[in-house]
Amino acid sequence: MTLPEQVTIGFGSNLGDSVELCRSAVDALRRHPEIEILRVSSLFRTKPVGYEEQPWFVNGVLLCRTSMEPEALLDVLQTVENELGRKRLHRWGPRTIDLDILSFGNRVIDLPRLVVPHPRLHERLFVLVPLAEIAPDWEHPRLSATAREMLERLASEKESQPVQRMGAL
Ligand code: ATP
Ligand code: MG
Ligand code: MG
Repeated sequence: MTLPEQVTIGFGSNLGDSVELCRSAVDALRRHPEIEILRVSSLFRTKPVGYEEQPWFVNGVLLCRTSMEPEALLDVLQTVENELGRKRLHRWGPRTIDLDILSFGNRVIDLPRLVVPHPRLHERLFVLVPLAEIAPDWEHPRLSATAREMLERLASEKESQPVQRMGAL
């Protein structure tokens, strides 16, 4: 079987045992027959962005290969979210686990339920710091900037978006 597309997935949690939930989510994806995980970033403790009245998050990013189409992969991610107790109370609120497709090869996707590259990834240090750790040379197909360059461009946000490295998953 060939797994042609390189994909990055962001994960985050701020409800329950967040480190264990991130580990469980990565393990669930590792067990999937059509996903091959290539790299997993360190874990980071991060301040919530946007809706700030909630606990800090644990965030990371993984790089994998898959033979699935993007929407099928989104289905898998949403199934894992549900299995790990995700309740959709309100958008951007606390959650046991969030799994987002950040990039899918160099595809640009604009579907009602799936936008790739993730539309807010370049504004978020909690995404760019782990992404630049494992895929610094990945180039955003809309912005024509690498993960490392997007991270450098967001340097002014370091005070308002703290990202503290915790260690390996
Ligand atoms: P954000 O998108 O700002 O990170 P969120 O991850 O908290 O917010 P969710 O509640 O997890 O948002 O998802 C809301 C909807 O976003 C999902 O039902 C899904 O269809 C859609 N969506 C669009 N693009 C993506 C993507 N690249 N990865 C995951 N979900 C996506
Ligand atoms: Mg998200
Ligand atoms: Mg999400």
